[in-house]
Amino acid sequence: MTVPTITLNSGFEIPQLGFGVFLVPPAEAEKAVSEALEAGYRHIDTAAIYRNEEGVGAAIAKSGIPRDELFITTKLWNDRQGGDEPRAAIAESLDKLGLEHVDLYLTHWPAPANDHYVNAWQKLIEIRDAGQTKSIGVSNHLVEHLERIVAETGVTPAVDQIELHPAYQQRDVTQWAADHGVFIESWGPLGQGKYDLFGEKAVADAAAAHGKSPAQVVIRWHLEKGFIVFPKSVKAARMAENFDVFDFELTDAEVAAIDALDPLDGSGRVGSHPAEVN
Ligand code: NAD
Repeated sequence: MTVPTITLNSGFEIPQLGFGVFLVPPAEAEKAVSEALEAGYRHIDTAAIYRNEEGVGAAIAKSGIPRDELFITTKLWNDRQGGDEPRAAIAESLDKLGLEHVDLYLTHWPAPANDHYVNAWQKLIEIRDAGQTKSIGVSNHLVEHLERIVAETGVTPAVDQIELHPAYQQRDVTQWAADHGVFIESWGPLGQGKYDLFGEKAVADAAAAHGKSPAQVVIRWHLEKGFIVFPKSVKAARMAENFDVFDFELTDAEVAAIDALDPLDGSGRVGSHPAEVN
């Protein structure tokens, strides 16, 4: 099965479907990532704060998969955005991952109360120029944060990784991204199991029409919207299910019905608001 790729503003390609490891306990990460690689995933999304980079690295090393066939993302945690801390943080992440470079390095949150996110972005530019990551991007940045880092550095991120699922579509950020050649990565793409997306009629109807599961329909919706997506599961059967989404397409009407699931008042958000994470 070939996963489509998207060409980032860096010129590098990212597989549009990957595997996320948020809340995968450190001791289970090696097994989960090994199973994901076995299932066919080649794009892994981790972060320093997940404390499972060593397990991700161990699975990569044992897999024998050539490095250039893998796409590995990690993220800079909020308490390391100041001064030269990002340079130390990437060195530590690379050491834990057992890699010479990652493919994508992200500022995890803008943490606006600390007001170090522009410095963090400037350091990510240096980290890229030093060859420790191929591409750089941000996560949880709202339009005001995106505009500020671009205005102050002249460098546009390759991606913004934000909470995004049918009940919370952040259309202001996705529009800004589309206007600036920035790709959106959807975190919590299945609503983290906290929002009953699978029980929504639009999702259930499409699942029945295509003989697929509701989770597969939601993942397909992300792909057809042009978002990069990496659902998480520690169950091998669900990893395989979430990867098995390339043998059907949603109709325009099905996509439109799922588009309409956002209550538009922000009540579909299941995670934290970027203003509140510092
Ligand atoms: P998700 O929406 O992928 O939900 C994961 C949960 O959905 C699983 O724990 C499981 O309970 C359920 N699930 C998975 N596959 C299923 C299936 N086929 N059928 C039924 N239920 C299924 O949420 P997530 O893990 O938070 O998000 C995906 C990834 O996004 C993370 O692993 C991480 O890499 C990234 N993420 C980033 C941030 C950030 O701040 N940048 C925040 C959260 C997550």
